[in-house]
Amino acid sequence: MKADEPFWETKPLSAMTAEEWESLCDGCGRCCLYILHNEETGDVFETDVACRLFDAKKRRCTDYANRTKRVPDCVALTPANAEKLSWMPKTCAYRRLANGEGLPDWHPLITGDPETVARAGVAVPPDLIPEEEIDDDLLESRITKAR
Ligand code: SF4
Ligand code: SF4
Repeated sequence: MKADEPFWETKPLSAMTAEEWESLCDGCGRCCLYILHNEETGDVFETDVACRLFDAKKRRCTDYANRTKRVPDCVALTPANAEKLSWMPKTCAYRRLANGEGLPDWHPLITGDPETVARAGVAVPPDLIPEEEIDDDLLESRITKAR
């Protein structure tokens, strides 16, 4: 490996340091949205309803360290489960690298600018609905797109 080669092109996910691993997240916020699965077709649909711990303006979890304790459905990504996360957005760096794809050219690790995610149209919008403001049986009416 040459010193100037980026780690995401040379290291498998399992060999990355914790810092490298965390830096792969582009901050899109889309894994913090409610999604719906069609059991028959396997299709996954994204809604504009966000997890109660999600700060939509900053696109950040407000308690990242304790996320899986506070939200049992929250999935902590690891090299072991990254290959199985077919419900994650196709743009997600963990999913892409696990599938042998590279990072997109708008990724902050390439551009050096966290806002290129929003400019590429990949980030969640700030006007999301907090989960506590909507009944579960209305989730289907909040679908925004297929994943
Ligand atoms: S979908 Fe992937 S890249 Fe986007 S916030 Fe979640 S983990 Fe990070
Ligand atoms: S607990 Fe945090 S990281 Fe997990 S889905 Fe909710 S906002 Fe996202």
